[in-house]
Formats: sequence, structure tokens, C-alpha cells
Amino acid sequence: ASGSEENDVVVIGGGPGGYVAAIKAAQLGLKTTCIEKRGALGGTCLNVGCIPSKALLHSSHMYHEAKHSFASHGVKLGSVEVDVPAMMAQKDKAVGNLTKGIEGLLKKNKVNYVKGYGKFLSPSEISVDTIEGGNTVVKGKNIIIATGSDVKGLPGITIDEERIVSSTGALALKEVPKKLIVIGAGYIGLEMGSVWGRLGSEVTVVEFAPDIVPTMDGEIRKQFQRSLEKQKMKFMLKTKVVSVDTTGNGVKLTLEPAAGGDQTTLEADVVLVSAGRIPFTAGLQLDKIGVETDKAGRILVNQRFATNVPGVYAIGDVIPGPMLAHKAEEDGVACVEYIAGKEGHVDYDLVPGVCYTHPEVASVGRTEEQLKTLGVDYRVGKFPFLANSRAKAIDDAEGLVKILADKETDRILGVHIMSPNAGELIHEAVLALQYGASSEDIARTCHAHPTMSEALKEAAMATYDKAIHI
Ligand code: FAD
Repeated sequence: ASGSEENDVVVIGGGPGGYVAAIKAAQLGLKTTCIEKRGALGGTCLNVGCIPSKALLHSSHMYHEAKHSFASHGVKLGSVEVDVPAMMAQKDKAVGNLTKGIEGLLKKNKVNYVKGYGKFLSPSEISVDTIEGGNTVVKGKNIIIATGSDVKGLPGITIDEERIVSSTGALALKEVPKKLIVIGAGYIGLEMGSVWGRLGSEVTVVEFAPDIVPTMDGEIRKQFQRSLEKQKMKFMLKTKVVSVDTTGNGVKLTLEPAAGGDQTTLEADVVLVSAGRIPFTAGLQLDKIGVETDKAGRILVNQRFATNVPGVYAIGDVIPGPMLAHKAEEDGVACVEYIAGKEGHVDYDLVPGVCYTHPEVASVGRTEEQLKTLGVDYRVGKFPFLANSRAKAIDDAEGLVKILADKETDRILGVHIMSPNAGELIHEAVLALQYGASSEDIARTCHAHPTMSEALKEAAMATYDKAIHI
């Protein structure tokens, strides 16, 4: 442990926000300590979030392809079976290697790593109950709170992580449930529903709101929902969950229409509660130093990530803004740059969002609905993957690119992509928005053929003029 020697920067939390901030601080020549209670670095993202979910999404997609698509590509298999323990082992191996990798990165950058639960004694002193059972006090001129978020439960529903699970339990089921009910049609619910649906579960998604993923562009969302329905995912929208109870060997849900009305019941083997996430500050003793939070429990910061207490900063899921790993990382770098006397900047309007289902849905910037609300005059350019040669060649042509650009200046305001690898394709658009590009800029940029990226070029052509291949 760092003992009583004072650090320039102490980071509480070793998730994507915290560990990235710690590495960047050390790279800027600041003496840095990172405190993490989990005993493994990488936070929610690496341990129970982004990484294990993508591992299972990939494995389940491979199974699904082998079972349903290989034959049409001329690849004959005997029988195709799911081996859940092997799938989980592959996921655990990926997670284990990556967490150890981050520990190596901290060492390489000379970040002092303290394993334990941190709490404020004063704005510059953190008491840490170490994992080994001791206690140490870590001092810092600057403290960065990067304690992230936790699963948001629903009133009256007890998560046991076996039959009534959060995303954490859904990433570690021992067998494929026959019937899975997902409460909440957000990114995480749809991703986990996809995993188990591909492996054979009958999946029903119950959502209080009238739409799935309400932040998504409406037109894309409709096509996305249709695609998921084709994959046999069922949706019960505008539906309120009244209660969830375990029965002899399953779970019983009582539901009623969101607008009120007769109750119905639904039975399942496993219920996934994915109603969102809440900031995590339990046990930090924020009240002891007077750090301000909002009604939702998020720590309030200014543009420089400074809280109301001098020398105390906060980043990532624990502050307002999109609850995403890459946003937490950007926060971490910018926050440390400010501390080091440099300038940093994160534009939350240009944080891409990706739903890693199949097809994936990725977006950056404004939706059409937002532009209407803002009263902005815009043009729309679209191009379907059905007219993209690469997508046709690999027989995976569901989806489209949609570009929204300012009617007068042609500056791109939003890009929305639904396609197998939309999460990779979106970054050309993110860069375009970052540089204030016009749709004509993308259209006149040479794109390699045959690639899925050509659909972006064609959609850009269609925004200010006409596409070629449709
Ligand atoms: P966290 O990752 O939550 O890390 C905070 C860390 O602080 C934790 O390790 C915690 O143990 C530690 N900590 C808390 N309090 C203390 C304390 N007092 N002392 C010491 N340590 C403490 N985001 C994406 O961008 N892409 C995805 O594909 C994606 N998929 C997801 C899938 C799932 C199932 C889930 C649950 C989340 C997913 N997310 C995804 C969201 C992403 O995980 C979070 O946005 C991200 O982890 C936030 O980073 P953070 O550093 O702010 O907090």
C-alpha cells in the first residue's frame, strides 16, 4: 500500500473510467494510486458488463449460425449442440486475461494499486479497508471518484441471481432456460435476450414504455424491433410488472397494462430484471466531506469534472451523461488533463451508442425526432444493405444506413446504422461529426469495394444528391 506518502492523484474505482484516469495521470508524470474493492480491475464493464456480454453474444451467434445458416453456405455439419459450461469457460477466460492485462498496465505505468474499499476521511484522505482484512490511509492532493454504477432493482422484486437475475446472473446461467422473461427493453435486456434466445430460450420482453430503446431513431427502432421479432423475440410493450414471485420450479409474473386494466400472469424459468442502472456511492462517506449529488444520486460536477469540494473530482457512470464505458474513459482522460493543468474536452453529444445484437444498431448525434423537436431543417439520406454488394455476398443484408444533415449547410447532424457490424462502421460517422463534415465530404471520400462501409458513402450521396446503386 502507498502508506502515508502523498499522491498527486488518488482514483477510487478501477473500472474503465478509473483505471484509464490512473494510467493517464501516471503518464502525465503524476504520482498516482488506484483503489479497487473488487479484487480485479476493469469494473462493471470488464467483469460483469461489456466484455462477458460480447463474449456470450459472439459464442451464441456462432451456435445460431452453425445451426441455421451454415448449410445454406455449403457447410454441412452433423449435429450442433450447445455446451453452456464450455461457453461460460471461454467467457471467463477472456475476462480473466483482460483483468490481468489491466493490472499489468497499471504496473507498467507505475500506478500504485490498492485492493480494498475506499471511503473519505477528509477531502484528501481515503481510508481503505483492504481485501486482506487490514486498513490503510491513502492521501492525495486530488481525488477522483470513479465508483461507477450498480443494477437498479424494481420495488418488491428480490433478485436471487438464479431464477430472478440481474444482468450479472444472466451472464452466468448454468443452463439454457426454456422460458426467459426480460423486464426492460433497453440495450442490456435486448443483448441478453438475444444470447439466450439464440441458444433456444423462448424470450418475452416486457416493457412499460410504448417503445423499445426509446433513445433510438424511431425509423431504425421499428426495423430493429421487426428484426428481433423475426428472431422470435416477443414484446409486451406498455406493460407494467406488478409482481414477480418464485414458484415451485419457476417464476410467476403478474402484469397489467401501463394505462391500467385487467391483470394477467406469465410464467417463466428465469426472469431478467434489466430496468437500468444507478450510480454507486454506497459506503464512500460522501456526506462526511459534503459532495453534492442530484436526486438520482449522481455526483454533480462542472465541465472540468470538479465536484463542489475543492480537489475532489468525479467521472464515469457515477456522474450525469451516457452510462457507457467509452464515455467513462473519455471523462477519465479529460479530468486528469485538467488536474495536470492542460485542457480536456468531452462532447457528450458525440458519444456513439451501440446495441450488440444481430444485426447491431449503432448511432451518433441526433435522431430525426430530436431534430424535429429542435426545429432544425434537415435532409435525410438512406441506403439499405440489401443494395450493398458485400452484404449480399455474405448473405447478411438486413438493415440500413440513415444520415441526417442540415438542410442549408449539409453538415452531418446524426448517423444511424443497423447492420451486422454497425458498431465498427459507426466510427467513420463519429469522426465526420467530430470534424464537422458534410454529407458530401463522406460521399466524395473513396471507399474500398466491396465493403459494408460503402453503404455509408451511398447514404451520404443520397443525403445531398442521389445514391448510385439503388
Ligand atoms: P464501473 O465500471 O462500474 O467501475 C467502478 C468500479 O469501482 C467497480 O469495479 C467497483 O468495484 C469500484 N468501486 C466502487 N466503489 C468503490 C469504493 N468505495 N472503493 C473501491 N472501489 C470501489 N458499456 C459500453 O460502453 N458498451 C457495452 O457494450 C456495455 N455493455 C454492458 C453490458 C452490461 C451487462 C452492463 C451491466 C453494462 C454494460 N455497459 C456497456 C456499461 C459499462 O459497463 C459502464 O458504463 C462502465 O463500466 C462504467 O465505467 P465506470 O468506470 O464509470 O464504472
